[in-house]
Amino acid sequence: MTEKGEQLSRIRHSLAHLLAAAVLELYPDAKRAIGPAIDNGFYYDFEFSTPLSETELKTIQKKMKKIFNTWKKFERFELSKEEALKEFKDNPYKIELIEEFSKNKEVLTVYQSGDFRDLCGGGHVENLADINLDAFKLTHLAGAYWRGDEQNTMLTRIYGLAFETNEDLQAYEHKQEEAKKRDHRKIGKELDLFTFSPLVGSGLPLFTPKGTLLRNLVIERIYAIQSKYGYEQVWIPHIAKDELYKTSGHWDKFGDELFKVKGQTDIEFVMKPMNCPHHTQIYASQPRSYRDLPIRYAEATTNYRDEQPGELLGLSRVRSLTQDDGHVFCTPEQIEEEVKKIVDVIRTFYTDLNMFDKNTYWVSLSVRDPKSPDNYLGKSDIWDTAEKILESVAQDEMLNYKRIEGEAAFYGPKLDFMFKDALGREWQLGTVQLDLNMPGRFGLEYTDQNGKKQTPVMIHRAIAGSLERFLSVMIEHFAGEFPFWLSPMQVRVLPIAETHNEYALRVVESFKKAGIRVDSDTSNESFGKKVRKTKVEKIPYFLVVGDAEVKSHSVTIESRDSESNDTLKLEDALEKFQSLNR
Ligand SMILES: [Zn+2]
Ligand SMILES: [Zn+2]
Repeated sequence: MTEKGEQLSRIRHSLAHLLAAAVLELYPDAKRAIGPAIDNGFYYDFEFSTPLSETELKTIQKKMKKIFNTWKKFERFELSKEEALKEFKDNPYKIELIEEFSKNKEVLTVYQSGDFRDLCGGGHVENLADINLDAFKLTHLAGAYWRGDEQNTMLTRIYGLAFETNEDLQAYEHKQEEAKKRDHRKIGKELDLFTFSPLVGSGLPLFTPKGTLLRNLVIERIYAIQSKYGYEQVWIPHIAKDELYKTSGHWDKFGDELFKVKGQTDIEFVMKPMNCPHHTQIYASQPRSYRDLPIRYAEATTNYRDEQPGELLGLSRVRSLTQDDGHVFCTPEQIEEEVKKIVDVIRTFYTDLNMFDKNTYWVSLSVRDPKSPDNYLGKSDIWDTAEKILESVAQDEMLNYKRIEGEAAFYGPKLDFMFKDALGREWQLGTVQLDLNMPGRFGLEYTDQNGKKQTPVMIHRAIAGSLERFLSVMIEHFAGEFPFWLSPMQVRVLPIAETHNEYALRVVESFKKAGIRVDSDTSNESFGKKVRKTKVEKIPYFLVVGDAEVKSHSVTIESRDSESNDTLKLEDALEKFQSLNR
């Protein structure tokens, strides 16, 4: 943690003490459990004799400020087990903790501030003046089981936000508001992109025609870029025998997350959690020579993983996730060239989204943790070479990269592409992973120049990653205002009056022929209403047609981003939009 981070954590931890002190003064029969600092503030769990309501948080907060003025410092006392048990004799939670700490031979300490004492290992502010009473705020309540176990008592958790300054607190709250406005679940509904049905099941999104168009636009753009580098599309079924995953190792890795399918025979089937094992079997379907390599398979295809219902969230955590997947099988000498090609695809794709700027992306060169070499499969010298290759590609391609130890997969090192969204949140999207394990597990081979059998190297790569998660990030990043090429509907033609409908429809036809996604609104609504509707749907451009435009064979172009308008001849307007689509 940085120094600033540590200080913040001390402030938050100290405020948790203050919260408990206030609650115990106001509700003397409440029993406190634990209260740590968290990444935006703090919380404390209590057992109340009568339920607490959120309206009472104001009173508690006032009490906290009052008590704070009586505190001078945090004073540390060491207690014997007996003393501690005596002091907390009415509190079963603290007793459980005391028993546990003593069993682990930990020193029992209590910290006192004012009249309030709490069992605690330390980590408070040195100087109480470091706590700014205008920079914290109690926010809400939640239920929480003691120690997170649903067999235990349900406690009441009081949450608070806390920062060093009031400005920081306000900035944080502003960002939260912004995030709420941009929530992809909200925008997805407004723009009619996807839906969920209780009959289908949670975590299984259904994409509407507009949402499917959005998906296809992403997939097609990736296919178009990578086909220049020799990728060929393949297709695989969505289930396979359990044996496939026992061989690949995914059976153990995914465990309970695997969806198992029972057929008519004794053979057990599994909904695929990954695509790599299937793709190895296409490779293995023919004898391969060094002359055939590299072989590059690509496929956007859905995987199924049984996430815990509590973990599911809109499109960001789903049970059916579509990977824009690709696998390269090559010789060790070809790795560098192939990784460079993948980096090129990623660069081109994210440049089109205006995200490939050194302020908005960085690459994690994820390598082994040198302290625990046993966590990784494969020979150490092969790992050294693989890590060196990735690092030299990162340098040659002038990527904004950092070497991160311990982030490699157990089967090989990787380049993970991290992107910052409009709210400064970071997401791992693209990835290039060297695999020094799977080809051997499946006995994949090729014949080298000397007629000897060799094991190929496998490279896993994803450009957008999981398409569902990618779309959730893009929807929030652009707040639904997608770039022109990614907009499901790009242009809408708006006739001013009914007499202009016929011309509007002719404009639509000529735009369609030019490959632009266009429609028109010839309803009986007022013109103002039509404009508002177009803006709500976040369509990038609308074309106004009235008497003047009909007469001069032109359109007046307005955009969602600016107030200005521009009247162009129909041919010129067509050319303008076609060039935007390139
Ligand atoms: Zn403490
Ligand atoms: Zn893979």
